[in-house]
Amino acid sequence: MSPTHPAPGTAEAAAEVARHVDGNAILGMLTDVFAVDASLIELTCRACGANGPLGATDVEDDRVAAIVRCRSCTHTLLTVSRAESGGVQLAIGAVALLVAPAPPSES
Ligand SMILES: [Zn+2]
Repeated sequence: MSPTHPAPGTAEAAAEVARHVDGNAILGMLTDVFAVDASLIELTCRACGANGPLGATDVEDDRVAAIVRCRSCTHTLLTVSRAESGGVQLAIGAVALLVAPAPPSES
């Protein structure tokens, strides 16, 4: 959702017609999420509503995966693991909201 997306239930939202496009339309936005300094990412827990920086979570880390838990209620927020291909796998758990800061401007 962009910062200019109208709030649900408003007249502005009712007047807006959504575009139906393929996933390529959001590649730039997802690149913005994953290209930031991860220490600046903030997570909100769907289970208890606690929010804070990724660095303030509890992590169970072993050679297979890192399980990121909410420090408040211990629900699993994310699981990050290495794929056999060498890539990274990310499973979203109880994350209600993940906020990444705006990328640095190119000036
Ligand atoms: Zn929680």
